[in-house]
Order: sequence, then C-alpha cells, then structure tokens
Amino acid sequence: MAAKEFDIPKLPTYIEIPELKPGIMQGEGPFKSIDEFQKPLGFPGEKVDNWKEVAIEKIGDLKSKYRSVQVFLDSCVKCGACTDKCHYFLGSSDPKNMPVARQDLFRSVYRRYFTFAGKHFPKLVGAKDLDDEMIDDWYNYFHQCSQCRRCSVFCPYGIDTAEISMAAREVLDTIGIGQKYCNQILGKALTVGNNLGLPEPALKDTLLDLEEEVEEDFGAPVKYPLDQKGAEILLITPSADFFAEPHIDGLIGYGKVFYQDGVTWTLSSYASEGANFGMFIGSYDIMRKAALRIRKAALDL
Ligand code: SF4
Ligand code: SF4
Repeated sequence: MAAKEFDIPKLPTYIEIPELKPGIMQGEGPFKSIDEFQKPLGFPGEKVDNWKEVAIEKIGDLKSKYRSVQVFLDSCVKCGACTDKCHYFLGSSDPKNMPVARQDLFRSVYRRYFTFAGKHFPKLVGAKDLDDEMIDDWYNYFHQCSQCRRCSVFCPYGIDTAEISMAAREVLDTIGIGQKYCNQILGKALTVGNNLGLPEPALKDTLLDLEEEVEEDFGAPVKYPLDQKGAEILLITPSADFFAEPHIDGLIGYGKVFYQDGVTWTLSSYASEGANFGMFIGSYDIMRKAALRIRKAALDL
C-alpha cells in the first residue's frame, strides 16, 4: 500500500516572539462578582473602604502561611527564560502577560511594604505603591493567567506564577473584588452540591430519565442511584456528566460497568460535582471546604 502523503509543517528552531504591544490587553477584566455571590464564600459584597490596609494585611498573611509565595517573590533573577512561555503573552503580545511581568505586579507591592529596601528606596528596587491603578491591573492581568504552570517548567528557580496568581486572586476576594463566574459557581457547588445549581429533585429526575433511556437502548435495567445508603462505591463526577454531550456518555458507561460488576454504587445529591473551583479563586480554605463535602458524603453512606 502506498504511503499517504501529508503536508508536514516545518517548525522553526525557535518560536517567534511577537512584537510587543503594551497595553493591548488593558481593560476591566472579567465580570465582577456581586454581594449575592460574595457573601456565601465569606467575602465582602463590594470593595471595602479600607481596602488598601486589608490587602496589605492579607499579603502578609499569605506570605507567612504559604512559604512558596515568599520564596517565589524573593528569588526571581529576571533571567527572562519564562517571558515567551505563556500562551497569553504569545497570543496577545501584551508585555504584562509575560509570566515575570505578571509576577512583578505582585512582587513590586510586596517589596514596597515587606522589604527594607522597598520601604526606604522604592525606586531602586522596583517597589510600587498599592493604589487604584495597581489593583485594577491585578484584577485584569491575574485573570489572564489560566494557572497552567507551563512557565514554571522553564524557570531555573521553579518559580510558579500560578501560585502568585492564586495569591493575588485571594487578596482581591478579601477586599471585595471577586470574579463573578468563579464565585457564583463555587457558591452553588458548596450550597446546592454542584456548580450548575441542580438541586436534588432535578438530579433525581435526570437520573431516572437516564435509566429509561439506557434500558431502551441496551435492554438492561442499569440503575443510576442517588443518596443510596450502604452503597459500596460513591461516584463523584464533573457535573457536565449530568446534561452535556458527550460527557453524559461517561456517566452511562460508569453505570454499565457497575451493573456488569454487580457492585452497589451511588451518586450524592450534595456532593454531585467533582471539580474543585476553589482552585480558580486561589483559596486553599475554600478548596478544603469543597473537598470536605465529598468526604462527608462518603462517611454518610
Ligand atoms: S501559569 Fe499563568 S503565566 Fe504561567 S504560562 Fe500558565 S497562564 Fe501563563
Ligand atoms: S524564568 Fe524564573 S527567574 Fe527567570 S525571569 Fe522568569 S520567573 Fe524570574
């Protein structure tokens, strides 16, 4: 058989670094959260009056609690190895999307309030005041990091920009500037059980419909149980499995495997979402809360 012919793209030895376009991604960032989504997570409903003091206190708290944050802030040597490793920079050409520049939004403030040189000779060490302009840049550019950690792989010191983005988002939430999407779905996951806000009766109906559909298609009485006491297995899935194509095929498949194996299993109505959205807002405390509801569901079996 003749070999197929393909056009194989020629990759350059080095990636092309885009010409800088300063400020091209300047803006207000993603939609901001409101009182209704902030409060269930324990964050102020709007930007607090003494936001600067609260933010500086929170930075101090985070740098003591998470040593990695302080080590990353102190150890960058500005070698530049990370500059062209972020897809947000390569896609936008905005220099503030270079990982090192993103970190510097945080680092310059940290230096200003937490280092001797930054307190007394700010201009010499690139220390900057935390003012309205800076906090707007934080909100905008720390939400242009997907926390993929790609840049950390190329840093000779292993500096992880994702950890700094997470810390910045936690500071922002603490002063009442949260991101709508993350805080809204996180609140639903913690209070209702999943990020869709699908309550127990709706989930039950969805699973009953699925049972009928599967029996019709495969001729076997495969069950999709909810809150079944004494089950051997607790299944935690992403909530997309309950409604979206092709994700629901995954849930159908789990049911078929459990049916074939003859084991008892269940989903939980209040822990029906496996994704931990606390990661996106950078709060380890909220991540813990989200994980503990899964532990509780397992203990409740
Ligand atoms: S962790 Fe953030 S800054 Fe680093 S490459 Fe990923 S998106 Fe870019
Ligand atoms: S690669 Fe590491 S040390 Fe070099 S500029 Fe980036 S963060 Fe700093």
